Amino acid sequence: MTQNAGLYIHIPFCERKCGYCDFYSITRLDLIEAFVQALIKEMAMLAPAFESVQFQTVFFGGGTPSLLSPSQIHHIFDALYHHFTIHPDAEITLEANPGTLNREKLEHYRELGINRLSLGVQSFHPGELHFLGRIHTAEDVIHNVTLARQVGFQNINLDLMTAFPGLTPESFQKTLEQAVALQPEHISCYTLIFEPGTPFHHQLINGKMQPVPDDAEAAFYQQARQFLEKQGYLQYEISNYARGEAFICRHNCIYWEYKPYLGLGPSAHSFYDNQRRANVRSVQAYIRKLAAGQLPLQFRESLTLEQQMFEYIFLHLRLRKGLDLQAFQERFGTDFVSRYRETLDRLLENGFIEPPNGFLKLSEKGWLMADSIATYF
Ligand code: SF4
Repeated sequence: MTQNAGLYIHIPFCERKCGYCDFYSITRLDLIEAFVQALIKEMAMLAPAFESVQFQTVFFGGGTPSLLSPSQIHHIFDALYHHFTIHPDAEITLEANPGTLNREKLEHYRELGINRLSLGVQSFHPGELHFLGRIHTAEDVIHNVTLARQVGFQNINLDLMTAFPGLTPESFQKTLEQAVALQPEHISCYTLIFEPGTPFHHQLINGKMQPVPDDAEAAFYQQARQFLEKQGYLQYEISNYARGEAFICRHNCIYWEYKPYLGLGPSAHSFYDNQRRANVRSVQAYIRKLAAGQLPLQFRESLTLEQQMFEYIFLHLRLRKGLDLQAFQERFGTDFVSRYRETLDRLLENGFIEPPNGFLKLSEKGWLMADSIATYF
């Protein structure tokens, strides 16, 4: 039987590291070519295990995938289609940094079949872009979106950031307005998180940077939500908005709906056969291991049924449509309402969920604290 899954390819290179980012990437661009060869080897080694799988989505994330040359991306695509079965209507996304794009690259992406472009914009304010360590300008974003439209992209996402030190409701409003003026099909709006190990976190613990208070963070969230909904965007996940169902990110839904995915590249995670796997978080180690004919695995763990149920609940509660109680019963062989009756009563008393009615959904109040609500289960 053919199984469906998503495929993630991590391109671990950036021109410069942004102060807040903890995604694994390095600035040693001289390693790109060796990385591409290693990635192709990883595909070849994993291909036999995925013979019966059809990938519905492919997502090139990073890092900055748009740093690769057209011929390097071309080689990756050749290997991808040689080793794996990709659905003919697959959603194929490439993340790009606006400072690294040009018409030639965009045309090439379209020719290869990339049908969704995700741009890391974060802000349209020059001072804020500088503060965040971004290499691009607001003009770069406008120029890139214009070029992307000209070469035929009909599905563009803009990533924005909220709740970072110094952001004001006025400047955030301008960023939201400028983003919407470009008419992207999708907008992601992420709250800044001080991830341990990042320069921002270092400044935080040294008292050189102050986090945005919780109430201000919630206000930014509401500001984004109210504005984007008024502009016709559907909030289908805590941080994600689409201009209609057709533009919901199918790849990210694979994560939230707890479906299987394969991750390739350094630090990439996979989830299939109820096992979680992660690759080594080092480009050099990744290249070395594959050159020696070994898979670049850092760890693999089998998830207990309890862990699977918790993750399933945690992820589904992020979605506006919530958790389908019947689907839960089919997957885990247990009735959700009977199993979690006491928890559901507590959540209902606190007003965090709506009364279960085929689906378990967070209430407006619960939506603001989705991650902590999952810990009730
Ligand atoms: S460009 Fe993206 S991946 Fe690279 S450091 Fe900045 S936020 Fe992280």
